[in-house]
Amino acid sequence: MIWKAPARGERMTGPVLFLDRDGVIIIDKDYLSDPDAVELVPGAGAAMARAAQAGWLLVGLSNQSGFGRGYFGQAELAAVMKRVDAELAREGVTLDGLYYCPHAPDQGCRCRKPGPGLLEEASASFAWDAGRTWVVGDKASDVELGRRYGLGAVLVGTGYGAQQAELVRAAWPDDPRVLFAVDLPEAVAMIVALEAGREGAP
Ligand SMILES: [Mg+2]
Ligand SMILES: [Zn+2]
Repeated sequence: MIWKAPARGERMTGPVLFLDRDGVIIIDKDYLSDPDAVELVPGAGAAMARAAQAGWLLVGLSNQSGFGRGYFGQAELAAVMKRVDAELAREGVTLDGLYYCPHAPDQGCRCRKPGPGLLEEASASFAWDAGRTWVVGDKASDVELGRRYGLGAVLVGTGYGAQQAELVRAAWPDDPRVLFAVDLPEAVAMIVALEAGREGAP
């Protein structure tokens, strides 16, 4: 489902940072339904602003199974999403798009990460250069989404990241496009440095 997308027209072109929401942009609070509990990961807003400055489009991809499980409704989901947008706006940054899966895992949808549905939806509005596009997440499912569809992936240590790291290292051993960062600020720094190095290479 689309929470936000660019106005209809030409697709936005460029490298994209596909960002998981809970545990990456905001602190994961398990099935968050209270907008007052929305809290940005320290430095996340500034890091996103740096990525945008360096040329990346910022697109959120979020599994929201709390909706599918009946833990909260559309009003709560919207209130939290609006608060995330507002908190990011205070940091001077805005997501170019945000797509979410509203289903429970047992509904067998194709949009729950690592399924392709959210990327398919995003592809209506964004044309990305896969070689310079990364998924940043705190779960193996985020890394799997990226690697299935030819994108780089960074597992952050915030949210569930610390407890998923061993699993991710085992599943993608020695994959140069699977990176590990402490948090979103470090992930952005790594990606920007890597790409700058590549451009500067002979
Ligand atoms: Mg997450
Ligand atoms: Zn879904």
